[in-house]
Amino acid sequence: MGSGKPKSGGDLAATSGPLAAPDAGLIWEYAPAPESRDIVSIAPEYGLFIDGEFRPAESGRTFATLNPATEESLSQVAEAGPADVDRAVTAARSAYERAWSVLPGSERAKYLFRIARLLQERSREFAVLESLDNGKPIRESRDVDIPLAAAHFFYYAGWADKLEHAGYGADPRPVGVAGQVIPWNFPLLMAAWKLAPALAAGNTCVLKPAETTPLTALLLAEVCQQAGLPPGVVNVLTGAGETGAALVSHPGIDKIAFTGSTEVGKQIAQATAGTGKKLTLELGGKAANVVFDDAPVEQAIEGIVNGIFFNQGHVCCAGSRLLVQESVADVVVDRLQRRLGTLRLGDPLDKNTDIGAINSRQQLDKITELSAAGDAEGAHRWTAPCQLPASGFWFPPTLFTGVSQSHRIAREEIFGPVLSVLTFRTPEEAVAKANNTPYGLSAGVWTDKGSRILWMAQRMRAGVVWANTYNRFDPASPFGGYQESGYGREGGRHGLAAYLDV
Ligand code: NAP
Ligand code: MG
Repeated sequence: MGSGKPKSGGDLAATSGPLAAPDAGLIWEYAPAPESRDIVSIAPEYGLFIDGEFRPAESGRTFATLNPATEESLSQVAEAGPADVDRAVTAARSAYERAWSVLPGSERAKYLFRIARLLQERSREFAVLESLDNGKPIRESRDVDIPLAAAHFFYYAGWADKLEHAGYGADPRPVGVAGQVIPWNFPLLMAAWKLAPALAAGNTCVLKPAETTPLTALLLAEVCQQAGLPPGVVNVLTGAGETGAALVSHPGIDKIAFTGSTEVGKQIAQATAGTGKKLTLELGGKAANVVFDDAPVEQAIEGIVNGIFFNQGHVCCAGSRLLVQESVADVVVDRLQRRLGTLRLGDPLDKNTDIGAINSRQQLDKITELSAAGDAEGAHRWTAPCQLPASGFWFPPTLFTGVSQSHRIAREEIFGPVLSVLTFRTPEEAVAKANNTPYGLSAGVWTDKGSRILWMAQRMRAGVVWANTYNRFDPASPFGGYQESGYGREGGRHGLAAYLDV
């Protein structure tokens, strides 16, 4: 990681700030390396993107979106109400019938390729804007969010003229108008996961980004204009939960795709029941990351860190429950603590930052409350030594040991940089504990034995099982959950099924 000069480590209490590491021998100092925000020009106000144009909400209402690292207001954004939802759905219907579903797949593909190329060309701008609006480290928005978003458009562009080979019949038809509601943790990437397969299959879209992170979806709307996408094919309605609910219940929608919490997912399932609307739900998770005694420890440590501290733990498939074999538990926890002591928390725009800001005060309160429940129920809290900035929303990397399965921190999704450590003795016990959750989105397994990987993967009830790695994504690979993690798959050939009349 970068350059720096080592100095000797030592007294933890005396060293504070992101540079402090627990007695690891060497501590590396890094000069600040902030990415310039000049590449982004944020307008003081944004309208809704309907029928190819930006316009204010009918009600004139707006809300502020903040930079969670500073609490500075970045812009005022239009809040869509029922009249705006109606307008956007009407525009999407008309574009569906006149412009998009009638276009040959090879022509639709050209637009998707164009959007993918524009995302790449403007990737620095997107990365800086994403980090400003969301609080995630620039290293992640630059190296993960934006390239993966472009990759999704490239991937589905390739399908647009090959739908008859996707395995859904000789002449698969689009569904119609898709209403798509996404969360704040990967704002642009979730927009790409939703829009790319829908458009490739010939549907038109009305997208509702999360209230706290609307800006990259609006920049993507600008990219749609730049790509010459026919008006009404993509519409972006900013707003809060009420806007999402109005979109979900609009009778002109044929398909709802939702990513977010299990609680809201259940409400949407109720609201759409009996309406004939197609529905996919990508909801929460409480994944087990299982480390056996024969696992390569250093590699596993990196995987555990990536599993739960990537994106401040705001990841639906985060490895938030570490299940470690009892015989190596002390070693693993000790090395993990040393590694966490080297993570840098702070300015999301600094290229050396590992841990950025928590996305909102509301999310910070939720993490704080659940962590307090961990203390109250008798788990042991350890916090990485780091200094939290004075303003903004921050939570230090945190480990709980002595966690039992009944603890709230072992059962509920914290959606923050907090890892609950449990132990097991036998593979059977590992499986039983891993599956002891109402969720089933993802899991990890770390072991030297290929046979054990397969044995575990067959038994763990999770949509994705990573072996000796974690949080790996590819547009060609389907992603989705079991049980309360939702239904339907996104990504790959499977992701097309949601947007075709199969
Ligand atoms: P959330 O509260 O469920 O919100 C998700 C989206 O739904 C937001 O755009 C939200 O708007 C909107 N919304 C809220 N209430 C609604 C309603 N009654 N009807 C329609 N839309 C409504 O979830 P979140 O807290 O933003 O996101 C975190 C959750 O998402 C976690 O549980 C996480 O596991 C899950 N997630 C899952 C995946 C996956 O692929 N499985 C991926 C990422 C995140 P506002 O934000 O404006 O209120
Ligand atoms: Mg924001």
